[in-house]
Amino acid sequence: MSDTARIVSCPTCQAAVKWTAKNPYRPFCSERCKLIDLGAWADESHRIPGDADHQDVLSEDLQGR
Ligand SMILES: [Zn+2]
Repeated sequence: MSDTARIVSCPTCQAAVKWTAKNPYRPFCSERCKLIDLGAWADESHRIPGDADHQDVLSEDLQGR
């Protein structure tokens, strides 16, 4: 037995995860859990209101030509 990998808990689902170089998603158990965690962070920090207004401006510009 030469398995010395540390075991950590996935921050998203609390599953046991081996902390090894073979796991690119560590400390998460999977890409899904990593994206969920990053998505929750981005949703609170990078809210961009008024996106529809930008689309209206672009439409007017195209019609004017
Ligand atoms: Zn997980």
